Amino acid sequence: MRVLFIAAEMAPFAKTGGLGDVVGSLPAVLRRKGVDARVLIPLHGPIKAAFGDRLEHLFTFAFSRRPGTADVHIYTTEQDGVPVYFLQSWPFFGEGDAIYTDLNWDRERFIFFSQAAMAVAWELGQGHHGGEPWMPDVLHVHDWHTALIPFLLHEARFQPGWEDVASVLTIHNMAYQGWDAGGYLWMAGVPGRHDPHLIYQNKTDNLLGIGIIYADKLNTVSPRHAIELHYPRFGEGLEGLIWVRDSDLVGILNGLDMEHNNPETDPALARNFSWRTFRTDRIENKRALQYEFALEQRDDAPLIAIVSRLVEQKGMDFAAEGLRWVLAETSAQLIVLGTGKPEIEEQMRRLEWDFGWKAKVYIGYNAALAQRMYGGADMLLVPSRYEPCGLTQMLAMRYGALPVVRETGGLADTVVNYDNGPADQGTGFVFLWEEPEAVRHTLRWAIDTYRNRRAAWERMQERGMRIDWGWERPVRQYIALYEQALAKVGRGQVGLTEIRQPH
Ligand code: ADP
Repeated sequence: MRVLFIAAEMAPFAKTGGLGDVVGSLPAVLRRKGVDARVLIPLHGPIKAAFGDRLEHLFTFAFSRRPGTADVHIYTTEQDGVPVYFLQSWPFFGEGDAIYTDLNWDRERFIFFSQAAMAVAWELGQGHHGGEPWMPDVLHVHDWHTALIPFLLHEARFQPGWEDVASVLTIHNMAYQGWDAGGYLWMAGVPGRHDPHLIYQNKTDNLLGIGIIYADKLNTVSPRHAIELHYPRFGEGLEGLIWVRDSDLVGILNGLDMEHNNPETDPALARNFSWRTFRTDRIENKRALQYEFALEQRDDAPLIAIVSRLVEQKGMDFAAEGLRWVLAETSAQLIVLGTGKPEIEEQMRRLEWDFGWKAKVYIGYNAALAQRMYGGADMLLVPSRYEPCGLTQMLAMRYGALPVVRETGGLADTVVNYDNGPADQGTGFVFLWEEPEAVRHTLRWAIDTYRNRRAAWERMQERGMRIDWGWERPVRQYIALYEQALAKVGRGQVGLTEIRQPH
């Protein structure tokens, strides 16, 4: 089975969030399972700057569409055994210092990318790149940037070679849709989207909406979020289309790189530990962390951490208010690592000004520090308003910090609430309301548990640390999804094979 991932981001080349993480890790795992997965992303300017010397020119072709003909250059490299193709074409891709620009320009660029991606798939299928012909069986597209492709595929299906190619759309974030793209689509020569659901719901110009209707199969990145997308609160105006495709939508939790994120070997930690040794060894990481943040080195003071983008989606505005209470009422210490909206950064800084001896805020991005915080803090607060999957709560559990989370999306699927007794179940603390009071009282409950029920606390730590968050299970679910998508276009079993070298 040949699967071409087509996306705006892929870690480590270009990443702003979960989308980049998934495209950066899932294809390699798929290949180990016998799926010939490859990736096509734009050659963003920053990729050229940072990875230019690794890229090899593969082929160039003339790509024609209504506004004219463009030269498309395809570069390639291999990442974790995955062939990655980079698309360069002026003026859309190949320069600039950012992955995304403003919405007007981005809509034009990604419509072009989607159209050109179809042509790249075709060129690969013809063997024009000088290698063996490689026509994908499945086009796996992600978020609004490439959500036009299922429609382009639908239109191409009457042509030989395309009739049994299937599409899968993964929704990582419903809040960005590529709205009002009608004019750009017309200019780019994209034919009318005549699906009646799109027409009656007035979504023929919404790129993500188009993908939702035309993709053969859909998924989002947690089972709970798949349910949430059916409702206005999370569907962001596309919930009506989600209902139309209800039977083709599933939630597949993102996996975690369990090797890279392993407290037994993580070089970022002051002291490595495992679920067998954390009861004695983990405390050194807490002390080191307190030292690093210039906090009093007290073993008994509960240490609350936040590692997050500081934006409303993450609930950081009301969390800051709730934390103000907790800092005033308890001996808990707080450490914050994040960047984001200036107003929310300011809110966090004010906590440090007012409670400087017990609250420290690091505005910035620091991957090693994030690992040390998971490995040394007692709790990680994740009060998101919505969270399609979320990785930080899984990382916290893996590293023995108990997550305190709002019950939404992947947080609801991964954190089991404490039973308030011996912790025969539970891996953290869960609340529902998006209110400072909920943050305040849930944290106080967690702090009480930390103080007075050590055995229960440690059982929760151990349980969290022993969970396997790896890609093994999600990858099987993705393979099943590809098979279902292929069945929809009339293909029987498309075997998993020994994978040939790409070129
Ligand atoms: P999202 O992708 O919505 O930002 P996730 O929880 O899915 O949230 O992933 C966030 C990832 O980014 C985690 O790996 C987390 O450790 C990391 N991260 C977030 N903010 C920072 C920061 N300021 N410094 C270092 N790592 C961060």
